Amino acid sequence: MSISFNYETCSTCAELSDTQREIQETARKFAREEIAPVAAHHDRTGEFPTELLKKAWSVGLSNIKIPAHCGGLDESVFTGSLISEELSWGCAGINLPLESSALAQTPVVLAGSKDQQKKYLGRLVEEPLLAAYCATEPGAGSDVNGIRTKAVKKGDEYILNGQKMWISNAGVANWYFVLARTDPDPKAPASRAFSAFIVDKDTPGIQPGKKEEMMGQRASDTRGVLFEDVRVPKENILVGEGQGFKISMRTFDFTRPAASAIAVGIAQRAFDEATKYSLQRKAFGTPICNHQAVAFMLADMVIGIETARLAWMKAAWEVDNGKRNSYIASIAKSHGSEIANRCASDAVQILGGYGFNKEYPVEKLMRDAKVTQIYEGTTQIQKMIISRSLLATASAGT
Ligand SMILES: Cc1cc2nc3c(=O)[nH]c(=O)nc-3n(C[C@H](O)[C@H](O)[C@H](O)COP(=O)(O)OP(=O)(O)OC[C@H]3O[C@@H](n4cnc5c(N)ncnc54)[C@H](O)[C@@H]3O)c2cc1C
Repeated sequence: MSISFNYETCSTCAELSDTQREIQETARKFAREEIAPVAAHHDRTGEFPTELLKKAWSVGLSNIKIPAHCGGLDESVFTGSLISEELSWGCAGINLPLESSALAQTPVVLAGSKDQQKKYLGRLVEEPLLAAYCATEPGAGSDVNGIRTKAVKKGDEYILNGQKMWISNAGVANWYFVLARTDPDPKAPASRAFSAFIVDKDTPGIQPGKKEEMMGQRASDTRGVLFEDVRVPKENILVGEGQGFKISMRTFDFTRPAASAIAVGIAQRAFDEATKYSLQRKAFGTPICNHQAVAFMLADMVIGIETARLAWMKAAWEVDNGKRNSYIASIAKSHGSEIANRCASDAVQILGGYGFNKEYPVEKLMRDAKVTQIYEGTTQIQKMIISRSLLATASAGT
């Protein structure tokens, strides 16, 4: 049983196009019939869901935003986020490879030349391949300015040296988006110091590390990567030298709505599991949902889910309509991830001792939820973006 959101009651959602409804239905069916039944297995073993991802590709649930001239669906951020929410209901860890590939594709969609797009995005349409986004390093995550991977131009190539960390799809991707320092001046501002490259994963000198043993979203292939004298053709730079920081920051405006939708998918699943259980489990002679403390917990969960969903929808709608959405995207990301954590924890509470048991799906949701406050910019970084934006607006008005 699922008590999923009724899209007819929401004015934004009532305007879903026929295509969006169809895609959402496909994603919902895929999450329930294909992902959810194997989620516990992939969580337990950490096995990468290769076949499942091929199937998701074959039914059109991946690479959704790739432009038409590369053979893609050219769909909106909103549509992509609808899919993210549905698939994450089934398992956020199984969905993470698709999201991480979308994260790597986005800078190429936004800033790639037609030739780069055709070559690298076209490949993902033709075959069920994945990409990876390589920005974070062992010593630099939130602080992009601390990135030390270097790219030095030699003739018609750049030579890449450095180390990345926490790269989702690192071991399975066909190509990487890589952010590296091209300005040797350590005082150069971030806005000029970095460049972005597309790097074929099989280039000599690339060594993915061991798969990380993670608390949650364990199906993901997340690893460190070593770059040792990796030769990248100069035509694989995005836009030009010094543009990397701008490109990678702009990318998040397009990907944070989906990251928020992942969190909402987890929260929705937690709510569905908790509600189902509360209708069946009896205590003191009545189903526990008849105890107000439990019913109010469910009400709080749904208040969070509805508002977090509207937040990702607004963030997606704004960017799809050419508006600057960094502020609302950060609100959606921080609110959605908090709601996912709260709902998962409350679902464990409602299931009581069973909630604490791996035989039931909710303890996994609690583990899966945590990283939504960390990846694609931590909650603290989102709050920096929100506060800077609101204070700039406030001081402009004084
Ligand atoms: C499962 C997983 C998948 C990931 N996938 C990818 C990927 O595909 N590609 C990629 O490039 N990266 C990826 N990451 C990395 C992720 O984006 C970083 O972990 C994240 O940005 C935080 O960086 P950090 O871990 O270095 O923490 P730090 O930046 O060192 O932060 C540590 C703590 O300090 C806080 N903090 C830092 N600066 C400030 C500040 N100015 N004010 C207040 N608080 C602050 C942070 O919020 C955090 O709580 C992934 C991470 C995980 C766990």
